[in-house]
Parts: sequence; structure tokens; C-alpha cells
Amino acid sequence: MHHVKQLINGEFVDSKTDQWIDLTDPATQQVIAKVPQTTDDEINEAVAAAKEAFKTWRKTPITTRARIFLTYQALIREHMDELAELLTSEQGKTIADARGDVFRGLEVVEHAAGIANLQMGDFVENVATGVDTYSIWQPLGVCAGITPFNFPAMIPLWMYPMAIATGNTFILKPSEQNPMVTLRLVELALEAGVPKGVLNVVHGGKATVDAICDHPDIKAVSFVGSTNVGHHVYDRASKAGKRVQCMMGAKNHAVILPDANKEQCLNQLAGAAFGAAGQRCMALSVVVLVGEAGNWVDEIKAKAESLVVAAGKDDKDLGPLISPQAKERVERLIQSGVDEGATLLLDGRGISVEGYENGNFVGPTIFDNVTTDMQIYSQEIFGPVLCIMRAKSLDEAIEIINANPNGNGTAIFTQSGAAAHKFQQDIDVGQVGINLPIPVPLPMFSFSGSRASKLGDLGPYGKQAVQFYTQTKTVTARWFDDEASKGKVNTTISM
Ligand code: NAD
Repeated sequence: MHHVKQLINGEFVDSKTDQWIDLTDPATQQVIAKVPQTTDDEINEAVAAAKEAFKTWRKTPITTRARIFLTYQALIREHMDELAELLTSEQGKTIADARGDVFRGLEVVEHAAGIANLQMGDFVENVATGVDTYSIWQPLGVCAGITPFNFPAMIPLWMYPMAIATGNTFILKPSEQNPMVTLRLVELALEAGVPKGVLNVVHGGKATVDAICDHPDIKAVSFVGSTNVGHHVYDRASKAGKRVQCMMGAKNHAVILPDANKEQCLNQLAGAAFGAAGQRCMALSVVVLVGEAGNWVDEIKAKAESLVVAAGKDDKDLGPLISPQAKERVERLIQSGVDEGATLLLDGRGISVEGYENGNFVGPTIFDNVTTDMQIYSQEIFGPVLCIMRAKSLDEAIEIINANPNGNGTAIFTQSGAAAHKFQQDIDVGQVGINLPIPVPLPMFSFSGSRASKLGDLGPYGKQAVQFYTQTKTVTARWFDDEASKGKVNTTISM
């Protein structure tokens, strides 16, 4: 049985723990590896290694740091097929989607290779006679990242490339449900030249997360995961004096106006609602049909029915959910929708995939006549379940979305520039798609979820990540020439 290793001070090592978590293939339930619950001593070793490595890494030329990421992006490209296959085996998503998972992370690595253009401070000459002021963006020290199961490549890559490129050292705690592809990416980072101690990996669940939040030598924590855990991490790590950012749960609405390009918009809606079995923080899980678009329900259902559920490696449309517990929860929420009076148009429960009878499969599921008081609306289902609501006008649709506490993503489908512009302006959600269903920004921007979907001011990649992983030091300097040296004692605050 494969035992997942930890990375401490440049060495991939076995844990001395006696607590191991089973890592199962979501399509079969077969245990494919054991994940250690890293011990407290091992966490301390990893942090000590990162603290020591920081002494030299922070002074390593920015161009040297940048070049490592140039090599790294090439290595990731070279290993794309292997990475996607490994990701699918432990996460369950289709191979095509797994490649997307790696690719969206790769884009952040490419961005990190441009760090010298991003980590530039400010300079003002002659703030007083002969006096210059400049600010420098210095790394914080040891930083840490805690990641969820749903994007085991992209989300770790949101974190450590930007943290390391800016001169920090890093402790990564991947999801205990699928850390193997993450670890393979980390191996490639070392191959690209990340020095020993600069990047470390520890494993486990709550105990490891709490140890990271509490550790006095960790300066900042980036978290991506569910809302409850995000609040816990934010409170605990903030209390310990750390800088913290948490990207959390969602309930993303699509608005369809009757003038939308119907075929395009329904294809995109189905892909974003059911793709990855709905296990995306940017999945479109509610659609608000405006006016005449309310008559498109049969076509939405037909799109959903056309999708093929299969093991991820067979690369059809959607794979299994991550675990039997996740499947049980999604099915329980579907039942709550029935009990609370929504109309179940398509029921994905109880489906069986030939050859994978033990897989955690739930097929595309659609509810019509959903109201905001139902659990299927108030909770993030994180499964392939689409809730249909109706509105008489765009204003009413905007009101529904703004009244929902979450603010991760939303999309509008319309051919009207004026309607799209109004939506973009009035909607209180961090990431807005216009005729585009999953508007995750590329890293020249930042991930910008808002309201209940985010804690902390700065996003996990892009320009905001450069700020998150650095602190500003402002230097005011005067160099005396012979003439200026003849001054007198100055007892005021003026320069
Ligand atoms: P999760 O919150 O269960 O786990 C996230 C991390 O927290 C994991 O590393 C896990 O080990 C750890 N953890 C779990 N329970 C914990 C506890 N009680 N105390 C301390 N740490 C704990 O999330 P998940 O199920 O892996 O991922 C799905 C969730 O992540 C969804 O809510 C999804 O919306 C969210 N997500 C958000 C974004 C975003 O950018 N906003 C992106 C991806 C996923």
C-alpha cells in the first residue's frame, strides 16, 4: 500500500504517526493510499526547516526566484498527462477536467515567473531637500496554505508559487482526501530548483490545521475550503497574530434573460451546474429565469439528461462525488427539497455506472419552483443539483442574488449590453460572468469572491497575493554632502 510522504527540509519522508487516513478512489471505494496525520513534532520540524530556509531565501535574487518558476511551468506542461491521470484517480473528475485543474494552476506558476515586475516598490525623490523615500515589499517569513479536495492541483498552485516567488518559505497542508497529485506537483517544484526547506508539506485534518493556526513562527495563512472551517481558521489564526485569507463556500446564481443566445447559454449552464459533479466553488447551482426564459425549463432538462455519468478515467461528462459521505449528504439534501415542496424535475439519485457499482455517483438533478427558505437553496449542496427560480424582471433577479449571503460568483446571459452593464454594476458578488459561466479570473487579476464567501481583504493569487505575502517597509534616506553637513540641530519633525 502506498503511504503518502511528507516533505520536510527537502526530504520526502514517511510519518512516524500511528494515525493513517484511507485515500479511496471515488469511482470504486478501493483504498489506493494511506495519508498520515502528521505528528506535532513533524509539524514543528517542517516549520523550523522553513524558518531556517527563509534566512537565505529572502535574500536570493528575485531573478533567480523567477527563473525557478520558468523551469517549473515547463515541467508541469511536460507532465500534464501524468498529473491529470493521477488527479482523476484520487479526485474522480474527468481527465479533461483534471487537465483544466492543472492548467488553471499552471497559469499562476507562469505569473509567478514574472515576479520581478510584480514586487516593485515605490520611490519618491526629494521628499525634502536631498531626502528620498522608498518603500520595499519584503516577504513575511514562513507562510502556510490549507487546501480543499475539489481542486487538488489548481488551489495549491494558487498559494505556494506566489508565496515562494515573493521570498517567503511555505508549509502546505493539502486536502487529506486527495494529496497525491499535490505532492507530485511539489516534487516537480523541487526538480525545478526550489531549495530545501523553502517548500514543506504536512498532512492530516483538523489537528494539523489547528497546529498551523497556532504556530508562533507562521506569519500568514491562506485557506480555501468550506465556510464553517474557514471561519474557524480565520478566527484561530488571527487570534494568534497571523495575516489570514479564507476563500469559502458559495451559492452561485445564473440569470437568463429571454434575449440570451439560447443554445449557447443552456450549454454553458449545464456545464457549469453539473460539471465536476457540481463540486466547484464557482458551480452555477441556481438559475433565475427572467420573464419568457421561464419557458426554457424543458430544454434545460434535456441538456442535463444528455450528460453521461461515468468514472473520471472514462472521460465522459461527470464523475463521482468525492466520498460516500458527500453522496449521502447530497442525496439527503435532494430529499429535503422534495419534502419542502420543490418540484423534482430530474432525480439523479440511485444511478448505477456499469463496472463501478460502488462509486459515489449522483446524476444531474433539477428542482423547479425553488424558494429561498428551502434547504436546497440556503445550503451549498456541492453536488450536481440545479435549482430553478423565476423572476419577472432583471431587477427582481438582482434582488434575489443580493439577498443571498454568498458572494463568490454569478453570471448573466443576455444579448443586451445595457442589461449586462446594469447587472455588472448592481450585483453584489465578487466575480461576474457575462455570457460566461465560471468567471474565475486569470492571475493578472485576483480571485475576488466577496461577502460570506471570503474573509480577509486580499485574494489568493494575482496582484493581491503579492500584497498578501509581503509587508511594506518604507525607508527615508538622506546622504550628506559636505555643504549639507554644515546644518544645525533640528528639534522639529520637518526634514
Ligand atoms: P473543507 O472545509 O472540508 O476542507 C478544507 C481544508 O480544511 C482541508 O484541508 C481539511 O483538511 C481542513 N479541515 C476540514 N475540516 C476541518 C476542521 N473541522 N477543522 C480544521 N480544518 C478542517 O472543504 P472541502 O470539502 O475540502 O472543499 C469544499 C469546500 O471548499 C466548498 O465549500 C467549496 O465551496 C469550498 N471552496 C471554495 C473555493 C473558493 O475559492 N471560494 C474554492 C474551492 C473550494
